[in-house]
Amino acid sequence: MELLKDKVAVVTGGTRGIGYATVKKFLENGAKVVLFGSRQETVDKALASLKEENPAWEVSGACPDLCNAQAVTEEINKIKEAFGRIDILVNNAGISDSTPIDSYTSERFDQVMQLNVNAVMNGVMPTVAVMKEQGGGVILNTSSMVSICGQPGGVAYPASKYAVNGLTWSLARELGPFNIRVNAVAPGITKTDMVAALPDEVIQPMINAIPLRRIGESEDIANAFLYLASDLASYVTGEILSVDGAMRT
Ligand code: NAD
Repeated sequence: MELLKDKVAVVTGGTRGIGYATVKKFLENGAKVVLFGSRQETVDKALASLKEENPAWEVSGACPDLCNAQAVTEEINKIKEAFGRIDILVNNAGISDSTPIDSYTSERFDQVMQLNVNAVMNGVMPTVAVMKEQGGGVILNTSSMVSICGQPGGVAYPASKYAVNGLTWSLARELGPFNIRVNAVAPGITKTDMVAALPDEVIQPMINAIPLRRIGESEDIANAFLYLASDLASYVTGEILSVDGAMRT
């Protein structure tokens, strides 16, 4: 069953990791997808690999500067012009941080907040206008397990993801009357490039601390996005869905 048949979706940070798995999952379920990446080269690479997998998939890409509200608005308007609508927006692009407090600079704090929080709003603002006009839509944000429990070091990261939770709860309440659902997925440790590069002696203690005794796969997170994007979740809004094997501390 194609859960997203003919839906038009935009996925930021769609060139690798969780975003790429989500783009693929949406395409497998009948959506037309525009993926955003940070560079044209990585966008082209992701598109080539998706097209190789299935030449019939309707997928395209762009690389607006997500921290520039005007650039994002222009890209969202282009997508609206090309497809006539935008049904799903997944705000997935993000950066992690592990800077110890003594080494923090306000520039580093701003850099994390700009991409993890401000860029979410930059995508939401023009897309809400499109969704209101068409009578509904779904906005999905990428939070994190550490938005709930914090982490030692890199304080901007959990702070930014807690802000994402705040945006999610508030937008769900404000946009519910317009038939726009807003939810977030809060992944635990997920096997993307960053985690895959860690040595065994770092990974194994992590696995031991996860009740399900494994690191999450990008597909685990993509499945959660698929559920929340689909009509299976038609009465779910304002939810932060943990997908972390019950590792919360
Ligand atoms: P990743 O580093 O593999 O991918 C990040 C994506 O964001 C890439 O597609 C990249 O192009 C994009 N991106 C990064 N900086 C950008 C910029 N300045 N402008 C535009 N795009 C930019 O990471 P991932 O692990 O797949 O993470 C995806 C999301 O999941 C992030 O929001 C991250 O915070 C969140 N998350 C990841 C984990 C994990 O363990 N991997 C856990 C919790 C939350």
